[in-house]
Amino acid sequence: MTLSSKPMGAIPAGFGVIDGQLAIGKVSARDCVAMAGGAPLFVYDAALIAARIAAFREAVPGADLHYAIKANPYAPLLAFMASRVDGFDVASGGELALLQAAGVAGARIGFAGPGKRDADLAMAIAAGVTLHIESAGEADRALAAGMRAGIAPRVAIRVNPDFELAGAGMRMGGGARPFGVDAPDVPALARHLVAQGADWQGFHVYAGSQSLDAGAIVAAQIATLDLVARLADAAGVGVPGCNLGGGFGIPYFTGQTPLDLAMVGEGLGEALANRAAVLADTRFIIELGRWLVGEAGVYLAEVIERKTSRGETFVVVDGGMHHQLAASGNFGAVIRRNYPCAVATRIAEPAHDVAHVVGCLCTPLDRLGESLALPHAGPGDLIAVFCAGAYGASASPAAFLGHGPARELLLG
Ligand SMILES: *Cc1c(COP(=O)(O)O)cnc(C)c1O
Repeated sequence: MTLSSKPMGAIPAGFGVIDGQLAIGKVSARDCVAMAGGAPLFVYDAALIAARIAAFREAVPGADLHYAIKANPYAPLLAFMASRVDGFDVASGGELALLQAAGVAGARIGFAGPGKRDADLAMAIAAGVTLHIESAGEADRALAAGMRAGIAPRVAIRVNPDFELAGAGMRMGGGARPFGVDAPDVPALARHLVAQGADWQGFHVYAGSQSLDAGAIVAAQIATLDLVARLADAAGVGVPGCNLGGGFGIPYFTGQTPLDLAMVGEGLGEALANRAAVLADTRFIIELGRWLVGEAGVYLAEVIERKTSRGETFVVVDGGMHHQLAASGNFGAVIRRNYPCAVATRIAEPAHDVAHVVGCLCTPLDRLGESLALPHAGPGDLIAVFCAGAYGASASPAAFLGHGPARELLLG
């Protein structure tokens, strides 16, 4: 019985072939495994990340570039980023500690997140981090923590805007949200923070994530500039800095096309040229996670077993959803679709048959690829799942079922 295959996303550009194998950063898949000391592992190509940063600089000269480390907080990656981006965004005290270990100064860090504990606030204030205030209660806890430390806390207000990023994979603005202060409440809170002696840094608006629609991103940026100018005028405060959010997506699935970066850059450039007088001296920030690192990462797992069940072929690997939850379709997806996937050790061979690539966890949720047309993969072969550089190792339940965490390797 032949099963028809299901489509998968396109393999991202920038990978090569060595000895018939997938090559990442000019290292063959088997050599990556040897360098890391075994599979399963995540491999990140630093050259691809550097190319993304360079492309951003060229297309979007009017804004600073921040890296949102929740996408991938691997320590060697943070060290690589430290000298290449203008700043970082964290969402916990733990993430802040990772950046401090990488030697990043607090003045280059913004701290958002709806549940900052007093200890997190104290740590951030001591380090000179900009707190993105998400509620009136948090504002008062930050002021109190500043009083205790004898330091004026650096604060910006994260605004929950009246709009959202259209078509975004994950919406984080508009309507009732745990994130940010509702726009109508912002002017009074800004005046309160300034009156209480906080070190006022401006505004942060994050409208959504994973958008491939340049027009929608530009529309959100234009709406953000307009909103922030109105809020500043209403509050009677200046705007030293404005974090415009990000939301730049990457194509994971069949039919998706890469974001048109030039169009985003042109649209933002025009909007900045026409910005309100109150924003004349403002520094603008774009904060990106997955767009910088997502396509630079590959997850490699070794085939343990190849079996047939009622006419369907299962390729069982030594990794799975405990490392790469998103590829299994269990990280916010409504319907499961196939990430780009390949037999890394037979990259140049034609498709042999249709197989399901499943992980080693004892749960039916653990599927890395469904009905894929692949070369014949047997024990010892390596399976590659692409688009694994963001929301992989740190966003997956590594302790689930006791197989242990994945290795990680930064090349270049
Ligand atoms: C998650 C998040 C990001 C990063 O999102 P990506 O889709 O990875 O670019 C940036 N800023 C904030 C506030 C976030 O919550």
